[in-house]
Amino acid sequence: MTDPAQAEAALASWRTGSLISTRRQSRHARTLTFRVPGWAPHLPGQNVEIRLTAPDGYSARRLYALAEPYSPDRVAITVDLLPRGEVSSYLVHTMRLGDQLDVRGPLDAGFSWDPETHRLPRQPLLLLGADTGVVPLMAILRARNRRRDRPAALLVYWARDAASRLYRTDLDAPDTDVEVRMRYDGLVRAAPGSTVRQIDPDDLREPAAWQGRPDPIAYVSGPDRFVDEISAMLLDRGYGDDRVNLQRFGL
Ligand SMILES: Cc1cc2nc3c(=O)[nH]c(=O)nc-3n(C[C@H](O)[C@H](O)[C@H](O)COP(=O)(O)OP(=O)(O)OC[C@H]3O[C@@H](n4cnc5c(N)ncnc54)[C@H](O)[C@@H]3O)c2cc1C
Repeated sequence: MTDPAQAEAALASWRTGSLISTRRQSRHARTLTFRVPGWAPHLPGQNVEIRLTAPDGYSARRLYALAEPYSPDRVAITVDLLPRGEVSSYLVHTMRLGDQLDVRGPLDAGFSWDPETHRLPRQPLLLLGADTGVVPLMAILRARNRRRDRPAALLVYWARDAASRLYRTDLDAPDTDVEVRMRYDGLVRAAPGSTVRQIDPDDLREPAAWQGRPDPIAYVSGPDRFVDEISAMLLDRGYGDDRVNLQRFGL
């Protein structure tokens, strides 16, 4: 889908994004949609880099998962506020419609889901995310929902608590052949080195209806320790590297 020359040009250049809509996702998270003329086609799972520049020239850059499948000249991100977060506090609380920032991308094709190469419609999707790790998984689910020959999907989403849960409207009434398992525990925000609750390996169990279908392909995203733990569990369950895609969000 992505033309290599277009992809290379996208990596090299910053474009201006104008905020055209926002949607609240939780008390401290919102989805922001920008109009970005000339934005190159992306696949769900890819990221965009955001750059904010202050009047005195100081600038800050952060990566965000693209929250929606490709649509011409549109970039959507879902941002959760981090305590004392420099960029997330601006994006969640301060930025107003019409305000502008710089964007670069699409980046990180390694984590993307390409419906054209997926063994549709038989190979199920196993989507495992914690915290804002659910954002690229939601983009994958949305791209999947647009297809007539869509694969079965299971989303397991570990959120801090019910109030922090993103995409309530979408996930409370999922498309057919999608199972959503919500899990709430302290794992994802535990301080490094502290004792964390173990993820229940049973949470990764494939639905019985998947029996007889090709082996599922897994997408895992979230905090580093979460991704490491889940990828070890997938290995134990017989998932080879060719069926596991990992996206680490840091910390
Ligand atoms: C590949 C990738 C994709 C990402 N996608 C998203 C996304 O879709 N939505 C989203 O909200 N965020 C996403 N992030 C995180 C994002 O890039 C920023 O790190 C986040 O918004 C915090 O930036 P900040 O400037 O507000 O915080 P900072 O001012 O940089 O940090 C504030 C405080 O939070 C801590 N902190 C910084 N980053 C993290 C983190 N990732 N997790 C926990 N604590 C942290 C810092 O140690 C510090 O104490 C992604 C990160 C990566 C690497």
